[in-house]
Amino acid sequence: MKITLIKGDITKIKVDVVVNAANSSLLGGGGVDGAIHRAGGPMILHECQDIRNRQGKCKTGEAVITTAGNLPAKKVIHTVGPVYNDGNRLEKEKQLLADCYSNSLKLAEANDLKTIAFPNISTGIYRFPKSIAADIEIESVLNYKSETIEEVIFVCFDDENYQLYKEKLK
Ligand code: ADP
Repeated sequence: MKITLIKGDITKIKVDVVVNAANSSLLGGGGVDGAIHRAGGPMILHECQDIRNRQGKCKTGEAVITTAGNLPAKKVIHTVGPVYNDGNRLEKEKQLLADCYSNSLKLAEANDLKTIAFPNISTGIYRFPKSIAADIEIESVLNYKSETIEEVIFVCFDDENYQLYKEKLK
């Protein structure tokens, strides 16, 4: 499994699947979620609504899959990161953040998707400290032993995350 680091906009990346930092409603939000729905078009929201109708909200740490609409990717995996709670439940939140990455990889495998791009989940509106999040995100991906996934791309949008990842992936 090759690991690649990119600084940029995840909506522009041509991979089998891009991961969205969704919220549990699955009905869209700000940050990367807003960018994916804007660039991908209404088909994504439509499929999210179908999932809502079938199974209700998406729990933190879990993941669901939809079309990628107009994005260059084939599919979008929506996963819900934990909201940082000032370190009060840090161990639990770290586990949930790691679950976002492993459950997304599992879902990609189940759908025979071989290249996957992740944003830095929970480090925006959900306020997770970026350095702690980067450690967990990298560890969760490196610990995931996949027979079928060929490439995992970490897509950092902001410079702080990009520098942290560059350092930690050395
Ligand atoms: P969360 O609610 O999980 O914190 P956000 O979308 O607010 O989600 O932020 C998660 C990360 O996504 C942040 O590091 C932010 O810089 C990044 N981000 C925002 N827009 C994009 C984009 N278009 N492509 C990739 N990453 C993005």
